[in-house]
Amino acid sequence: MINRETLYKYAKAFGVELDDNMLSRFRLYASELISTNKKYNLTAITDPDDIIVKHFIDSLAVLKFFDLEYGDRVIDIGSGAGFPSLPLMIAKNGMLETTFVDSVRKKLLFIERALKVCGLKAEIIHARAEELSRDKAYRETYDVATARAVAPLNILCELCMPFVKVGGYFVALKGASDELDTAKNAIKVLGGKVESSVSYKLPNGDSRSIIIIKKISQTPTAYPRIYKNIASKPL
Ligand code: SAM
Repeated sequence: MINRETLYKYAKAFGVELDDNMLSRFRLYASELISTNKKYNLTAITDPDDIIVKHFIDSLAVLKFFDLEYGDRVIDIGSGAGFPSLPLMIAKNGMLETTFVDSVRKKLLFIERALKVCGLKAEIIHARAEELSRDKAYRETYDVATARAVAPLNILCELCMPFVKVGGYFVALKGASDELDTAKNAIKVLGGKVESSVSYKLPNGDSRSIIIIKKISQTPTAYPRIYKNIASKPL
């Protein structure tokens, strides 16, 4: 069971004020994560204090640097067990229109259960990102795309930016390494412009960064390419 006070205190340090209802939802989410993880490997992080810091606070850090608005249409690419967008939904009281996308169905079944125990609603899609963004219903229709721990930034941009509408943002959660230089060309080709890149530390001292890319023009229809080409010849 996670410690409510610890979560509250750490979130507040990132400028996020969690109320009782939100703290209860985080507890339910953590319990579901721990129990499901005993049957199916969703995450290597299972200690309750580590879940608070490395999953919940790591995800909530987005709110310190990016102004996510109620009603925003958000797509989480390679969402795994729901990070970062399920914590963001909880902190925004469910008032985000979120789509979770992953190529592994079992992870999505977990998200479905986690949403249910938290009393939240979202769209869940089993697909490869590079295939889904070719569908008109999803291409350039999102205010925000998020991704954590999915691929290097130059590859990730091609997976995520086609979903973002012009004027929207791609928010990439990254570790300590500076990947911006190698991704500059991809960002430009895909219609983006770096809005900001911030580095910070988690409460345990681990270094993280968040890169915020604004979509300033449409992504050319040639992108995304098939995954083999995205990965072997990154833009
Ligand atoms: N974002 C989660 C987190 O931070 O805990 C999960 C990270 S996990 C290391 C990467 C996830 O991305 C996996 O669940 C994998 O199935 C998914 N993934 C990788 N490439 C993908 C693609 N092209 N389309 C959809 N999902 C993808």
